[in-house]
Amino acid sequence: MTVREMSIGDMMLLPPRPGTCPECAVNHDPGAPHNRDSLYYQMRFQQQHGRFPTWGDAMAHCEGYVQDIWRVELARRGVPQEELKPGGENGE
Ligand SMILES: [Zn+2]
Repeated sequence: MTVREMSIGDMMLLPPRPGTCPECAVNHDPGAPHNRDSLYYQMRFQQQHGRFPTWGDAMAHCEGYVQDIWRVELARRGVPQEELKPGGENGE
């Protein structure tokens, strides 16, 4: 058997289970952040943006007050400030 290196771009993701979020494949309220730690979310985001997501990316679609709550709670759990804002050079 030959082992061949594959890039993430070469991989195909199976669709998320019905009833789960189409972005992160986790069952969560649509107004809540995606699960940044979901492997599906990380792979999908990497394929689309060429980098791995931050918690800031995962909550970018949430209303401001929801983001505020999550930033406070994630910081309280030791998540660094850098991880709490959208990544990328343009903050995309
Ligand atoms: Zn999600």
